Amino acid sequence: MHDEEQSEAPSSETLLHSSSRGNLTLGEIVKNSILYCVIGVAMLRAPVGLGAPSGSPQVAPPQAQPSSPGIFVVFLGTGMPRPDPTRQGPSLAVVANGKAYIVDAGTGVVRQAATAYARGISALQPTHLDIAFLTHLHSDHTLGLPDLILTPWVMSRSAPLRLYGPTGTQAMVDHIEQAYGEDIDLRIHGLEHSTPTGHNVDVHEVRPGVVYQDENVKVTAFAVKHGSWKEALGYRFDADGKSIVISGDTRPSESVGEACNGCDVLIHEVYSGLSGGSGEAAYFSSFHTSAEELGDIAAQAKPKLLIVTHYVGGAKANPADIIQKIQQKFHGPVVIANDLDVIAP
Ligand SMILES: [Zn+2]
Ligand SMILES: [Zn+2]
Repeated sequence: MHDEEQSEAPSSETLLHSSSRGNLTLGEIVKNSILYCVIGVAMLRAPVGLGAPSGSPQVAPPQAQPSSPGIFVVFLGTGMPRPDPTRQGPSLAVVANGKAYIVDAGTGVVRQAATAYARGISALQPTHLDIAFLTHLHSDHTLGLPDLILTPWVMSRSAPLRLYGPTGTQAMVDHIEQAYGEDIDLRIHGLEHSTPTGHNVDVHEVRPGVVYQDENVKVTAFAVKHGSWKEALGYRFDADGKSIVISGDTRPSESVGEACNGCDVLIHEVYSGLSGGSGEAAYFSSFHTSAEELGDIAAQAKPKLLIVTHYVGGAKANPADIIQKIQQKFHGPVVIANDLDVIAP
């Protein structure tokens, strides 16, 4: 979020830090985050004269305890390639019925999960991270993949990582395993006595459609348009009667609106405030979605809550400006996610 906004709004970072000091329950932690979200919406809407949201956002806490039914999202990283010290690489966890399903593996993914775990979200204990979904293979979304494969194993995860992603995921995993071959061998056969299975990856290269289902969640992949990538995916999670749609990186794609279609939460990337540099507009219009375009998409898709992440802001952009552009067309609640925000449908 923009520095100006951070100075005014109590960030969830601050709230969660204070929560951990005070030994609050997960429910209280989540309520604090939700308080922040509501504050954030109200503040960001204020400059455009819309006042506080009425009747929504329906950002009620999940059913309090990590092991109880419910679904919520933990934003592990909300950044993009630029090494913003306040935003880790793109990654989030959908937590359904106490189980974490990771989407994308940007830098810091396991350490951010460890932070959320330390603050009371047991599903994000690093050794419990054993299933993930990649939207595409851009480096900012996969730089944390070796971390997600290896660190939970080093910490004693014995189950292989189940990994769903586009064509090319298997080759990327094979290269990672090769790159760390000596490390893996030494940890298994040396004095660490690591389990011989936990570093393995069970890769599923998927096509659009239902790609995963268990007792907690159904995950449906859909194709999006991300510049010259042959395959890029978004995902819809259905659990506990709620729906969460994640756009991944995309220029405006009808498939996102079709996947949402009145969903509870739409998590979408955005850019704004281009500097006008040579080739910049051509690149962004092919690979990403402007704030104005996102307003159109959300107006059509009608999510109950729109969450903006992977925010690429040029020098002329700030969060209030992005919200204002979106709300020229979409009049529902909008939140710009920050790292370690916890948001429930
Ligand atoms: Zn990206
Ligand atoms: Zn990308």
